[in-house]
Amino acid sequence: MSDSREGLLTVDLQAVGDNYLVLRERLADGSRCGAVVKADAYGLGMARVAPALYRRGCRDFFIATQAEGETLRALLPEDADIIVLTGVRPGRELECARAGLVPVLFTPQQLRAWVDSCARAGIRAPCSLKVDSGMTRLGMSSAELRQLLTERDLLRAADIQLLLSHLACADEPAHPQNARQLECFRRAGEELKALCPQVSLSLANSSGIFLGDDYHFDIARPGSALYGVNPVPGSPNPMRAVVELSLPVVQKRYVAEESSVGYGATQKAAAGSWLAVARGGYADGILRAQGGRGCGWACDRRLPMVGRVSMDSATYDISALSEAQREALENIEVLNRELTVDEVAGYAGTIGYEILTGLGHRYFRRYLRS
Ligand SMILES: *Cc1c(COP(=O)(O)O)cnc(C)c1O
Repeated sequence: MSDSREGLLTVDLQAVGDNYLVLRERLADGSRCGAVVKADAYGLGMARVAPALYRRGCRDFFIATQAEGETLRALLPEDADIIVLTGVRPGRELECARAGLVPVLFTPQQLRAWVDSCARAGIRAPCSLKVDSGMTRLGMSSAELRQLLTERDLLRAADIQLLLSHLACADEPAHPQNARQLECFRRAGEELKALCPQVSLSLANSSGIFLGDDYHFDIARPGSALYGVNPVPGSPNPMRAVVELSLPVVQKRYVAEESSVGYGATQKAAAGSWLAVARGGYADGILRAQGGRGCGWACDRRLPMVGRVSMDSATYDISALSEAQREALENIEVLNRELTVDEVAGYAGTIGYEILTGLGHRYFRRYLRS
């Protein structure tokens, strides 16, 4: 039953698939396009998004946790690889291998534990390694990698499928860190491949794809761009918008005298203005940080938010609408093709990623054809 009384979140799977093809087209010859579907496909619903990407030809799926991987394994055919970006907890190695998941390992010790656990069970399961090329988050240092390369027995026993690293500044093409990380990763890749020639290399996230062919290596790992976030901030967005969010108006009111609106009385509505209170607040992912700055959308125009965002509602100034439009107004859109995740993120002082992953669970979700 389609019950959109508490808001309608529309996810366009066709647009996700088209975005996948746009990214794949940009890749250098010989590079494959994977897909990052962690955090429930950035909040959009992995159960629908991942199979749609598989149908478009994606075979390399990246998720954050083992639990996400186990869920995804049941959704995809066996020929899809599922790589767990935050690795495997100590003692869970065999469970991970038996679930058909490929962990990303960050230290030589983790690789040894993986190989030993699998050997004790009589199996040889694929894994991947991460090298830190300059972000100083996850991954082994170049020195640790070099140390690992002296452990020939371990490398022979391991089935290392992939070496990856992550860019810290891919969305700033002019940042000198990009070239430094590229060089560091290239060197690490050459050293590992000299001993393990079967290893594939992966560096680029969404924005990394737009840094040029040098960054593509064997597999790209886009996430946000698949879901419509602009991978090239400051330039026109090459991706299609994927989400639309429409909230029901639960009260319209005329303000006869200048009145403060919402908690803290932080902002005033002018005498003679019309307001609409929409059912959707910070518990639904309408970030409170955009209070007084953000906007909604109706009748082809932006409508300013007034006052703070509440837990379950937010207030919009609809004075700019004609009387007929006002009377007919039933919903306010807070995300659409015009009012993009990137624009809304700007009002809240955050990034599109946080808008998507924060989308609430009280909306009715509708998926458009894939
Ligand atoms: C989340 C993540 C990605 C995807 O990044 P986007 O910027 O969303 O494309 C790629 N690689 C790693 C290691 C990640 O954690």
